[in-house]
Amino acid sequence: MRKNLLSKPKVKIRLPGGETVVRVVKKKPGKAYCGICGRELHGVNYAGKTKSQRSVERLHGGSICARCLKRLLVREVLSRFG
Ligand SMILES: [Zn+2]
Repeated sequence: MRKNLLSKPKVKIRLPGGETVVRVVKKKPGKAYCGICGRELHGVNYAGKTKSQRSVERLHGGSICARCLKRLLVREVLSRFG
């Protein structure tokens, strides 16, 4: 077995002839977390078919949570106009 396959998840499959082989299965993608506070992001599904299913259609959607984005925007507005 090649070296880069050692860390990948494997399953044992029994073939019709009685032989057992090891197959490498794809890793499931992990959960998405906010880049600032580290909270888990909702509405982000890496396995979604369309882009709107995979992420949130907001500024920095899919990388920063709504609460952190709101805080950043308020801080930016206040620093310019406040
Ligand atoms: Zn956050």
